[in-house]
Amino acid sequence: MVAYMEHKDLANETIDPERAGQIAGNVRRVMDRIAAAEAAAGREAGSVRLLAATKTRDVGEIMAALDAGVRMIGENRPQEVVAKAPGLARLAAERGWTIGTQAQPTQTQTTQPTQAQPTHIPFHLIGQLQSNKIGKVLPVVDTIESVGTLELAERISRRAVARGVTVGVLLEVNESGEASKSGCDPAHAVELAQRIGAMGGLELQGLMTIGAHVDDEATIRACFAHLRRTRDRILAEGAPGTGGCVELSMGMTHDMELAIAEGATIVRVGTAIFGPRAFI
Ligand SMILES: *Cc1c(COP(=O)(O)O)cnc(C)c1O
Repeated sequence: MVAYMEHKDLANETIDPERAGQIAGNVRRVMDRIAAAEAAAGREAGSVRLLAATKTRDVGEIMAALDAGVRMIGENRPQEVVAKAPGLARLAAERGWTIGTQAQPTQTQTTQPTQAQPTHIPFHLIGQLQSNKIGKVLPVVDTIESVGTLELAERISRRAVARGVTVGVLLEVNESGEASKSGCDPAHAVELAQRIGAMGGLELQGLMTIGAHVDDEATIRACFAHLRRTRDRILAEGAPGTGGCVELSMGMTHDMELAIAEGATIVRVGTAIFGPRAFI
């Protein structure tokens, strides 16, 4: 049990209207920032998807973000995934959405066979995954963004094959080289991506990085640009299983504009949506 989980009931579904309104306003502002950054970079409107980074937030807060238009969520800890997934799945189903890969409650008659597929909200894991927690997250998440070693990829692959499922993965690359950050050495990223692409039970969807923890914008941008060039090399080499390696998950509250300028397809935003975190 993570310490802050004793202080906050992460499965709580109630939210007061003022807090929900605050989150909705924040979501609009983040979407405006994304749209402005897309335009400034000459990129197509809607080419960047917003992932809400939901660590330490409860089900009610996450649903407020979804009700305001967020269409992808990411959790850091398997324990949080497990605590929130059932409530999220049920409340999403009430809105005609699916979330993550959990079996959905029986559809009500509002879903006619002629209707389009329900909106699917991808559920990502964006934080460190210990091998003994793989079995906890596989039944819930669509994509694991934080795969930075061959060993972890092999373990996830084995579990996914045993369950008869395919899970999306992003290769996490430590572009800044900061010791505090996980992810593979950028020099090994292409080879690692090619090996992951060849593994059963995994669908290599792209690359992920966390921006350098520095003030210098040129340094931050250079890391994002290097991740983009790495993705382009993987695609150009065309190894089996790497054709879908298109996503660039990069950019957070403080550096999303720089990431969008360098080609981000997913930005992971927590603080700008939910406010400062009370824990961690
Ligand atoms: C918390 C977190 C984010 C979001 O960070 P903010 O600065 O709150 O926007 C993005 N990515 C990862 C991996 C995170 O842990």
